[in-house]
Amino acid sequence: MSDDDDEKEDQKTPSPEQIQKDLQDFFKGKFGDNVIVSPMGAGVPPQATPEPPEEEEARTKRRAETLNFEMKPSEVKLHLDRYVIGQDEAKRALAVAVCDHYNHARHDLELEGDASHGIESSRGDPSHEQESLDYVKQNVILLGPTGVGKTYLIRTLAQLIGVPFVKADITKFSETGYVGSDVDELVRELVRVADGDTALAEYGMVFLDEIDKIASADGKSFGRDVSGRGVQTGLLKLLEETEVPARSPNDISSQFQEFFQMRDGKSPKRTINTRHILFVVSGAFSGLGEIIEKRLTERNIGFASKSTVSSGRSGVSLLSEVSTKDFVDYGFEPEFVGRLPIRVSLDGLTESDLFNILTTSEGSILKQHRESFRGYGIDIEFTDDAIELVAELAKKEETGARGLMTILESSLRPFKFALPDTSVNELLVTRSLIEDSQKELQSILENPDQAQEEFKTLEVKRFEREFERQHDVRLRFDSEAVAMATTVAEEVHLPVQEYLHQKFADSVDLMRKIQEQTGHDWLPVTPQILNRPGDGVELWLEREGSSS
Ligand code: ADP
Repeated sequence: MSDDDDEKEDQKTPSPEQIQKDLQDFFKGKFGDNVIVSPMGAGVPPQATPEPPEEEEARTKRRAETLNFEMKPSEVKLHLDRYVIGQDEAKRALAVAVCDHYNHARHDLELEGDASHGIESSRGDPSHEQESLDYVKQNVILLGPTGVGKTYLIRTLAQLIGVPFVKADITKFSETGYVGSDVDELVRELVRVADGDTALAEYGMVFLDEIDKIASADGKSFGRDVSGRGVQTGLLKLLEETEVPARSPNDISSQFQEFFQMRDGKSPKRTINTRHILFVVSGAFSGLGEIIEKRLTERNIGFASKSTVSSGRSGVSLLSEVSTKDFVDYGFEPEFVGRLPIRVSLDGLTESDLFNILTTSEGSILKQHRESFRGYGIDIEFTDDAIELVAELAKKEETGARGLMTILESSLRPFKFALPDTSVNELLVTRSLIEDSQKELQSILENPDQAQEEFKTLEVKRFEREFERQHDVRLRFDSEAVAMATTVAEEVHLPVQEYLHQKFADSVDLMRKIQEQTGHDWLPVTPQILNRPGDGVELWLEREGSSS
């Protein structure tokens, strides 16, 4: 860049100090010297101003409510299990880390509360001070490939605890050149997510992705003048404890807001303390496996003969053995790694994990697709073999669970576009639909009635499965009974499953008993049995008896 360009650049973006000075001049010109413009901005250390007692009390109350968190790690893991498939080790480690972190935050808050109620504060007690100094914040580093649940785990935890969550790619900050102030922006974002509630934001979670991009071993530098090392240094204080100005020094409108609040005698909280903000950094860390392998090999040479040296391990399982030295060799500053004591590696997802993500995770994107079709008045269901194929194709994408979204989106898009213009209000997603969605769409458009029939048949199958799960009785509808069930359900204006559950509700005990006594794996459902389940089963039993 030439000097001229530099000059133009300088004219375009005034420095925070310049903004500060212009504001002071403006206010002085307008209101005279009796107005004090508070010093803010880069280079001016932010001060935590004392708040009026009522506000302080309200804040403490809000915090106490949020931190009224009495879950044990095993309970937190159970909650995660509902949403996140696999990743058992990661779930355990994170459950412990998060419980520790928020228990410690609550402990601190209780001591503050005691102090504010005139009880002798432990903060004045040297043993407590020592305890606080010794406490190592449970910041987390997550290692693992893309799309395997790193963000999802942390977001789910933040929701469970009820604290705000923000996520950003670290590379975004590297490029700007104003690293320190930009990373602060992330903390301010927590306040925005918490609807301006600074008290809550101070217990939020910040997720920084692509952290491996700021490893500086190979002398990489990011953006104009920022090295990975520089970004690491910028993050150090934040990861531990610092006061971040609540208003950006570059944001004129927030400066104005602050001025008017102060003029009206209000004293807004001017800083955000990061002591209890949990930082989670994550990345794929390609190449780190080799560094770990090398260290393990060298260590083994000390103990064993060459033939037993190779660890024989690879990829993710190696990452779980990562040490501080490996991170340093990878290009991180020891101080930076030291502030991230919890290390968790996540596994790649198998095809069966991908299948389970669709079928058993409460956050499954199938739900999302069902809802979006319902928005057009269309009910949509998926056969198991269709879901198997989606998992198989997604696995090939090598983008973890993100592959599921890609495959489903591209398969369903033609239907979302075409079906709302037709009379079709039920869609069964089969294996052949995933294989060739255009062809399947064509055949549905040519014969919409058949498509509806297939959908209803699947509903009967689902009823069979659900009935077995609930009552331990296995039913098997013959084709005539299927046709009858779907026709009658339509006549009585009930969804097929609901109609069948009502129909069999009074015969469950009888059927269970008969299944046990006859030793049959399943009971047939014929039109006769469907008509009058109790009598029908008796008749069927008589016939069974006479034929055997
Ligand atoms: P990353 O590991 O790159 O942070 P994400 O957590 O953002 O990946 O995953 C993207 C999406 O994929 C999630 O929002 C979630 O819907 C789904 N997903 C990823 N991994 C899992 C998992 N193990 N269990 C359930 N859903 C998952």
